[in-house]
Formats: sequence, structure tokens, C-alpha cells
Amino acid sequence: MKTIGMIGGMSWESSQEYYRIINEEVHQRLGGVHSAKTLMLSVDFAEIEELQRLGNWSEATRQMVAAAQALERGGADFVVICTNTMHKMADEVQAAIHIPLLHIADAAAQAIQARGLQRIGLLGTRFTMEEPFYKDCLAEKFGLEVLIPPATERELVHRVIYDELVIGKIVPQSKADYLRIIADLQARGAQGVILGCTEIGLLVQQADCAMPLFDTTLLHALAAVDYALK
Ligand code: GLU
Repeated sequence: MKTIGMIGGMSWESSQEYYRIINEEVHQRLGGVHSAKTLMLSVDFAEIEELQRLGNWSEATRQMVAAAQALERGGADFVVICTNTMHKMADEVQAAIHIPLLHIADAAAQAIQARGLQRIGLLGTRFTMEEPFYKDCLAEKFGLEVLIPPATERELVHRVIYDELVIGKIVPQSKADYLRIIADLQARGAQGVILGCTEIGLLVQQADCAMPLFDTTLLHALAAVDYALK
């Protein structure tokens, strides 16, 4: 079994989900008292959030690169960045290490393709929804057509992530807002929706709507287990 290197803490609310899913899945597949071999470097999210808000992406990149290199030195066989947003610097991180980086958008896109879907909604932070780094990966590498909510809804989705979900606050009104935004995407022709922020699965689950949801935390964690056991 390979050792999974995890860059976590963005936020720890979702990192603990990764840790749980990865261990449950390894146990499920191997039985007995098996559990996953992991190494997690967990950051202080306040420092990262400030860099994001100020647009200091060069320092944020420096920190992600340093984290990945520390995991490699520590014995990780590959790395997962446990957040969608911080895949903005995925190429720089991969270029700075000698072990593979498992990209979160690849995990999501492969699940979407397996379901035969092509037109897909995307919810996430403002960075993930609006900037090219994530959508381009889905479009250029996998041929998916990506729909995002209009500006006011994007603002709401972003605010709920940073003001509520990263501190474990689950607000019923926010859940209703998210479900309405998902229904709007469906009305515009989306065949499924990517929960493209690793905390959204804490608020909205597949049981809440008929629209196929692609939870990036679950899909990325399962991809890590696949790779670890390959
Ligand atoms: N976990 C979130 C994501 O998947 C947001 C936190 C962050 O900005 O890294 O994008």
C-alpha cells in the first residue's frame, strides 16, 4: 500500500472527511483491521484565507509547494491537495516534487464521464467558479461543458463557504439556497452538479435532490485509495 500525502486544513472540517473516507474505504476493500497509510500536513486556514482574499497567490503557491515537498521528504508516495481552490497552483506544485499529484478535477471529471454526462454545473469558491484553472481542466481535458450560477448566486455560494462551512456551521437557510441554485442550474440544462468545494458535502447531500451530485471530497478521497492500492 502506498502512503497518501495530504495537504489539509483548508479547512480541517473537510480534511477530517477525507481522513474518514480514506480509512473507511481501505478497511472496506482490504478487510480485517486494515487502515490507510497517510501523512497529513495541515495548515492554519486563517493564513491561507488571508492570502486568497488579498490575492497574494505567489505566497500561497510557495506555501503549497513547501507543504508538498515536506510530504515527499516525509515519505509520501503521492500527494492530494484537500481543496479545490488550491488547485489553482497544481501545476507549480507538481513541477516542484518527484511524486505524482492526484488532481481533484480529474477525479470529478472521471466520475462524470462514467455517468455519461456532458453538461455540468459547478459550485465552489468564487476562485473555482470564475477563474479558468478549474473549468479549463474540465473542458479541455474532458470535453465537459461547465455552467456556473449568476453573479449574485456565486457571491452567496462563496460567502456560505467562508462564513459558515469552514467553521462547521450548518445553516438550514443556506442549504435551501444551495438547493435552489442547483435547481436553477438544472433548469438551464445542467445534467449534474459538481460540489467543487470540499465543504459543500457537509451542507448538501445526494439524498437532498434528484440531480446527480459529484462531491469532490468523496471522489478525490476514493481516487486516492484507488491509487494507494494499485
Ligand atoms: N475547501 C474549499 C475548496 O474546496 C475552500 C477552502 C479553500 O479556499 O481552500 O475550494
